[in-house]
Amino acid sequence: MKILVVSDLHYRLKQFDWILVQAERFDSIIIAGDLLDISSNVNLSVQIEVLNKYLCKLRQQTQVLVCSGNHDGDIKNQYDEFEARWIQRLSYDNIHVDGTFVYWGQTLVSIFPWWDGEFSKQVVNKQFQSQSQLNFQQWIWVYHAPPDNSPVSWTGKRHIGDSALNAWIDRYQPSMVFSGHIHQSPYTKAGDWKDQIGHTWVFNSGSYLGDIPPYLVVDLQRMQAEWHSLAGSEYQLLV
Ligand SMILES: [Zn+2]
Repeated sequence: MKILVVSDLHYRLKQFDWILVQAERFDSIIIAGDLLDISSNVNLSVQIEVLNKYLCKLRQQTQVLVCSGNHDGDIKNQYDEFEARWIQRLSYDNIHVDGTFVYWGQTLVSIFPWWDGEFSKQVVNKQFQSQSQLNFQQWIWVYHAPPDNSPVSWTGKRHIGDSALNAWIDRYQPSMVFSGHIHQSPYTKAGDWKDQIGHTWVFNSGSYLGDIPPYLVVDLQRMQAEWHSLAGSEYQLLV
């Protein structure tokens, strides 16, 4: 099982183009949130329409897993919290989104939405509770925000992570969490693209402008992760 992991593409279409070219080399592609760019001049509904087409092309080539990030909300629920309804609607064959899960053999992979307030956080909490009851040998999470107090949430000045995720990691001890959100973490002195919290490996491949995004290649048979970026490539055995 060979997986390509990216996040925070922020409507950089050249980066989506690059992923389309790579797709057939991988068994699965994880996009860990922030597909849209809320600061762009391009209207959000146009961004969504274009990305729908990209993701439909992508799912014809390989399995795609997508979680929402803080840039991806397109509607507000009755509690005035943003939700990425357009991502929920992408749940077709070979594409798996917020709230759902997929099995890779005995590995359960759960995909969590960005939570924008207490109501959405409770929905995520229920997802953890119900999916923890499923049968699996190892559990992998796709979750946009990185854990707090970790090099993968270091901005260069402080940690901006999700402390609720730390609590869920402590409770459920997944084997891996694929995050994003803090674009610069891997490129700061005290930051990193990987960290280990207990037995859980957590990742944030980072984000920047350019034609090729920084990315991870994870091989679950060999239990190794590679990180590739303009800052170079690094390798980590996941034991
Ligand atoms: Zn982002």
